[in-house]
Amino acid sequence: MPIYEYHCTACGHLFERIMKVGEKAPRCPACGVKEVRKRAAAFRTNAWSTFLDRMEKRVSPQKFK
Ligand SMILES: [Zn+2]
Repeated sequence: MPIYEYHCTACGHLFERIMKVGEKAPRCPACGVKEVRKRAAAFRTNAWSTFLDRMEKRVSPQKFK
C-alpha cells in the first residue's frame, strides 16, 4: 500500500498515512480538521520551499555554511 504525505492546511501539521484503495483523505491528527492536502513533489510553492529550507537550517545548520 502506498504511503502518502499530507499537509494540513489548517494548522500546517505534516503527517504520513498509508491509504487503502478508495479511502478518502484523512483528518489531521493534530487538529482533527479534514482540510489536508496530499503533498507531492510538484506541489511545492515558493513559500513552502522557503519554509522547508528554514526548517532544514534549524535541523542541520552545517549544510548552509
Ligand atoms: Zn491540522
